[in-house]
Amino acid sequence: MSIATSIQQLRSSLPEGVRLLAISKYQPIEALQEAYDAGQRMFGENHIQEMAAKAAVLPKDIEWHFTGHVQTNKIKYMASFVSLIHAVDSFRLLREIDKHAAKHNRTIDCLLQIHIAQEETKYGLTIDGCRQLLATEPWRELHNVRITGLMAMGSNTDDMHQVRSEFRQMRQLFDELKAAYFADEPSFAQLSEGMTDDYPIAIEEGSTIVRIGSMIFGSRGY
Ligand SMILES: *Cc1c(COP(=O)(O)O)cnc(C)c1O
Repeated sequence: MSIATSIQQLRSSLPEGVRLLAISKYQPIEALQEAYDAGQRMFGENHIQEMAAKAAVLPKDIEWHFTGHVQTNKIKYMASFVSLIHAVDSFRLLREIDKHAAKHNRTIDCLLQIHIAQEETKYGLTIDGCRQLLATEPWRELHNVRITGLMAMGSNTDDMHQVRSEFRQMRQLFDELKAAYFADEPSFAQLSEGMTDDYPIAIEEGSTIVRIGSMIFGSRGY
């Protein structure tokens, strides 16, 4: 199936309130241009310099989302243009992003990444770690970053009950934090979850941004 057809089919299947983030990591410029020509404007990348290189040559009305692990020494390459950073998992990182955003007179939206899947990984906050961060760190003093929601990856498993229960926990955490810290902030509204293999479940459980790569662009060959 062509990139354009995949984009069109996906977009028409998404309920209102759910946005499609095309994950274009490792894809060549031509593939992104094809998606753009099919109307796609939100692209997600996992390597900062790759994203910056693509942003430099593609149309300026693209919204660039960074979905990879953030290396603090590379924030400077995206601080001027990134529109949402999905995988923030420490106060230290928030503070670094804030510092770079200030240099550009911007406020950068960030999601807190929660580690909810069964696989071991060094990235992402635990649910308690996230509660702890919001309860104890001076994040409200950072004026050039704004926490606009949560991000997670479901377990890499065929057990869709497991995946659903993870997304359900995310929704519960989102609601809890919304009530406790962001009740007056309509901008805290995003749940970034759901990829090619599990996005329909993520949507049923409240996702607002699905991050889809291989279903649009084909396999990345790794
Ligand atoms: C690669 C990636 C995706 C997209 O995965 P697909 O299975 O190709 O849809 C989504 N989110 C993150 C964080 C990724 O790294």
